[in-house]
Amino acid sequence: MGGVCYLGGGTALQKALGFSDTEEDMYRYMLSASGLYADEPKIRTYCEGSVAHFDWLVGHGVSYAQKFSAEKEISMPDGSLYYSGSELVYPYRDKAKPAPRGHVPPSPHLIGGRELMRALTDAAEAVGARVKLRTSARRLIVESDGHVVGQ
Ligand SMILES: Cc1cc2nc3c(=O)[nH]c(=O)nc-3n(C[C@H](O)[C@H](O)[C@H](O)COP(=O)(O)OP(=O)(O)OC[C@H]3O[C@@H](n4cnc5c(N)ncnc54)[C@H](O)[C@@H]3O)c2cc1C
Repeated sequence: MGGVCYLGGGTALQKALGFSDTEEDMYRYMLSASGLYADEPKIRTYCEGSVAHFDWLVGHGVSYAQKFSAEKEISMPDGSLYYSGSELVYPYRDKAKPAPRGHVPPSPHLIGGRELMRALTDAAEAVGARVKLRTSARRLIVESDGHVVGQ
């Protein structure tokens, strides 16, 4: 994956780079960009948690460059924040105050997905998770309250 996380509402990176954003503007943009069958409660929940999601990523070792890129590009060798959606154009610019919300780790590789996943898999392994490659799950072990506890 590209490693771009759509985050807003005033993440630490948005603030550090001088962009003001609100949860409400992010919500209005996402709702209007999601078409007729948008899952409104899910979008609300996603926007409510967005600043905390960014902090969670950073807390698990994902690092971001303190740099905005005016280009809408898939390769970001040194930038970390850009307009990844259609926030700046009609009709979305009239529905919500635009803000750059594409957060991506800088990467010497073509895209930032490798850096994002490297940090997260390192964090998972550091707390004891074991990654099993080339292993098929046949069924999930589900507890009576619906929680998946194994496979
Ligand atoms: C080229 C590309 C770029 C993308 N870039 C971005 C981006 O920048 N930002 C973004 O937000 N989204 C991006 N996406 C979308 C994003 O990657 C997906 O939405 C996301 O990975 C879905 O996560 P998932 O966990 O639901 O499924 P997956 O990531 O598909 O994970 C499911 C995993 O389960 C494994 N699996 C399946 N069956 C079994 C089985 N029986 N036993 C064991 N394992 C099994 C599969 O091998 C797979 O590894 C991109 C997608 C593509 C294709």
